[in-house]
Amino acid sequence: MKMFINGEWVDRDQKIEVLNPFDGSLVDTVPKATAEDVEAAIAGAVRGAEIMRNMPAYERFTILRRAADLMVERQAYLGRTISLEEGKILSEGVFEASRSAITIETSAEEAKRLTGEVLPLDGAPGAVGKLGFTLRVPCGVVAAITPFNFPLNLVCHKVGPALAAGNAIVVKPASDTPLSALKLVEILLEAGLPPLAISCITGSGGTVGDALCRDERVRKISFTGSADVGRRICQVAGLKRVTMELGSNSPLIVMPDADLAKVVEATAASGFANAGQVCISAQRVIAVDKIYEDLLDALRPRIEAIAAGDQLGAGTKMGPMVRESDAERVSQTIDEAVSQGARLICGGSRSGAVVAPTILADVRPDMRISREELFGPAVGVTRASNIDEAIALANDSRFGLSAGIFTQDIDAAVKFARQVDSGNIHINWGPMWRADMMPYGGLKESGMGKEGPKYAIEEMTEMKTVVIHSA
Ligand code: NAP
Repeated sequence: MKMFINGEWVDRDQKIEVLNPFDGSLVDTVPKATAEDVEAAIAGAVRGAEIMRNMPAYERFTILRRAADLMVERQAYLGRTISLEEGKILSEGVFEASRSAITIETSAEEAKRLTGEVLPLDGAPGAVGKLGFTLRVPCGVVAAITPFNFPLNLVCHKVGPALAAGNAIVVKPASDTPLSALKLVEILLEAGLPPLAISCITGSGGTVGDALCRDERVRKISFTGSADVGRRICQVAGLKRVTMELGSNSPLIVMPDADLAKVVEATAASGFANAGQVCISAQRVIAVDKIYEDLLDALRPRIEAIAAGDQLGAGTKMGPMVRESDAERVSQTIDEAVSQGARLICGGSRSGAVVAPTILADVRPDMRISREELFGPAVGVTRASNIDEAIALANDSRFGLSAGIFTQDIDAAVKFARQVDSGNIHINWGPMWRADMMPYGGLKESGMGKEGPKYAIEEMTEMKTVVIHSA
């Protein structure tokens, strides 16, 4: 495909190959953008921002609403594109496409709800007769940089709110998975979006990232990706607003009174969806004494039954990782944990980019598999003796994106909700759950700011205070 810059589809001689992660076959190519392309995209977006800030909210609503309808019509096609370039199984690809349409639809609705507040200025001495209120105005040009793992929905979480708020946006999708984002651009243009309101630059983050993030005409950066790249972006961004949606190694506490069947289902869903490449994957299961061995016995057959392989294959329940090098990294981390005393309950093998779904027991908090973000299909199980120790283990992380607990004890659940340092808290489910309308974002090194269209719009607008000095 071509990339879309400054109101036009453009090509370049130098290409990025988009490969099917399962067998390395060529899916398509996209142009390899340069810093000059970034300049053209930003120049176009400055003009696009002027068009968007003057567009009535109802028109912004209508365009996004129409785009959401087109996405529903093309759900199967979008889902297949996602699966082909990212490696998730087809049903997960189609599910992501359906969620993406909801994200755009919710953004459309929020376009009509940009409100301010009346300020009770006479509460301040000497302010009698003054009328104050706030206005929300768009930031102008928003830059969105997105990761590979949800190549459509995470782009929608930035594009939908940015346009709903009346901004222009420059999107830089992950180089492994640019096709879904480009297909979203096609749909938005068909829905009537002014061409200058969106650019989509396909190029390596290392090459185009600094030019995009440093430019002072960009007033807001919304980034989803790894903590290392997030830190780099914050260093070059200078004085502009940033939202950082970064990684995690999410904990799931299992108390002795937990419903074991539900825990097993939640672990399968939270730990192995998209081959564990979800920012809120359950990575650290912390099981309290009495339930520890029963949990391992119950997990083994369920996780062994997850058939891994070709993401487009009919019976496949888990696809490959996005790159073979990532699969190698995950295998090495598993092997290292075993060499340090962890017990392999199931999995542990690798074929190309496909890592067998893996459960490790007797994992210690100092092992790499506990400390780093694994971003792969392996879950480590650690023993704790009570809720306090389990909470301390859950908090023994530099991340804080999502956390879950299974218990019937309301006191334990409330203690968990209050004391675990995490942006999302799930009681009686795993950490991997999200409704696209909810506020979503991490604490600690998992980032700052919230997504979910209503909350992202707050981050993509600026507040003005207006005071009328009446007689
Ligand atoms: P990544 O390597 O950090 O890449 C993310 C994006 O940043 C890509 O578009 C990448 O471009 C770009 N990039 C790379 N270097 C850059 C630079 N110097 N300046 C500007 N942009 C640059 O992450 P990933 O491997 O795609 O995704 C996995 C990570 O995303 C995990 O850590 C995961 O937890 C996190 N994530 C977080 C959330 C959340 O909501 N908190 C959701 C999903 C994923 P290239 O592809 O061209 O290198």
